[in-house]
Amino acid sequence: MSDELFARASRVIPGGVNSPVRSFKSVGGTPYFVERARGAFVMDTEGNSYLDYVQSWGASILGHADAGVLEAIRRASERGTSFGAPTESEVRLAEILAASVNGLELIRLVSSGTEATMTAVRIARGATGRDRIVKFAGCYHGHSDALLAEGGSGVATLGLAGSGGVPAGAVADTVVAPYNVVPHLDDSVACVIVEPAAANMGLVPPASGFLAGLRAACDSAGALLIFDEVITGFRLGPGSVAQLYGVKPDLWTFGKVIGGGLPLAAVGGRRDVMEHLAPLGPVYQAGTLSGNPLATAAGLAVLDRLAPADFEQLSVRVSTLAKGLAEVISSAGLPVQVPCERTLFSVLFSTDPVRNYEDAKVAAANGLYGKFFHAMLDRGVALAPSPYEVGFCSLAHSDLDVERTIEAAAQAATEVADGAPFQA
Ligand SMILES: *Cc1c(COP(=O)(O)O)cnc(C)c1O
Repeated sequence: MSDELFARASRVIPGGVNSPVRSFKSVGGTPYFVERARGAFVMDTEGNSYLDYVQSWGASILGHADAGVLEAIRRASERGTSFGAPTESEVRLAEILAASVNGLELIRLVSSGTEATMTAVRIARGATGRDRIVKFAGCYHGHSDALLAEGGSGVATLGLAGSGGVPAGAVADTVVAPYNVVPHLDDSVACVIVEPAAANMGLVPPASGFLAGLRAACDSAGALLIFDEVITGFRLGPGSVAQLYGVKPDLWTFGKVIGGGLPLAAVGGRRDVMEHLAPLGPVYQAGTLSGNPLATAAGLAVLDRLAPADFEQLSVRVSTLAKGLAEVISSAGLPVQVPCERTLFSVLFSTDPVRNYEDAKVAAANGLYGKFFHAMLDRGVALAPSPYEVGFCSLAHSDLDVERTIEAAAQAATEVADGAPFQA
């Protein structure tokens, strides 16, 4: 039935999907169509159940269809789904974000990570009166024109260097630098935007001194530092990674976890910088559905539930998983590394060090990931359908689920090493 649905989808939706990485293009085959999901599992339209490490690309941290989140959405929906006027739950969500992140003083809620990063850059340009922005190859910051250059996972999965349809003028002021090296900045630079732990070229943690070096370089050039924490925020720990890494940016973006699986993201930071945003200042940004009541209800239900201990528990579970995967896959005779940073991991079929996008592309080039992905899917475990994506574990994943994943990986890796041909 997934095949039939994919054929139908392909007639009316470009490539059959509404976001390119869902298409299985880099792993081969046709995507499973989800019928329902609960906790750690998704069920497809054919009745197969998969232990899910996609978890809506990290938007779901409590697990799918969490009862508290569903109840919050239901209750909010009875009061109306959108008003175009302010609500108390927007205030509460912003208050929780501000209380969770030291230095996050003013916050604007938006509907997607793309909007948040696009707005962060616009604020930085407005606040500094400068045009140039610096980003890092392999970091993804959503799909706005100026930020798509060498954007990691989505574009890398499709083998594209950037994107068609982006005029040269739109990227003329975007400088792309290699991750984990502090670039030289001059006084034309408005901001440096970075994923503080890169999670869109597989998982690449920051090298020691990299983030502190960026902070110092920004300060001496008068540029602003933006942490894009759409993945890492409220995922690696209870708030920003700024505390974890000891480096504080001027602006942050959040998304995924904070929306509880509904469209919600945020841009925020230093009061004097954020005050450039309309209606206080001249930098314009708006949104018909911004701060949507269903999305804020879902986000609040998640943030109210998460306790620091949850992140510790999740870290332990993910590090057990990462160690187990590395062990059984290499025992099968395959080259592998499973980088892990607290609650995030990725599986790379290479033993060469991966510090940046160039390294990641080399590590992904041998095609082993796609074979392993399908061997795992056959055993009821859904990893991300691309070697450039990280794995997301939820609080609904049990120790037994982790054990089963490692067992499945041992069998899958043996099958891949034995060269059983994969039929797309
Ligand atoms: C997912 C992601 C975005 C974009 O968020 P959308 O909600 O998909 O627009 C931006 N930055 C990072 C780091 C992301 O992982």
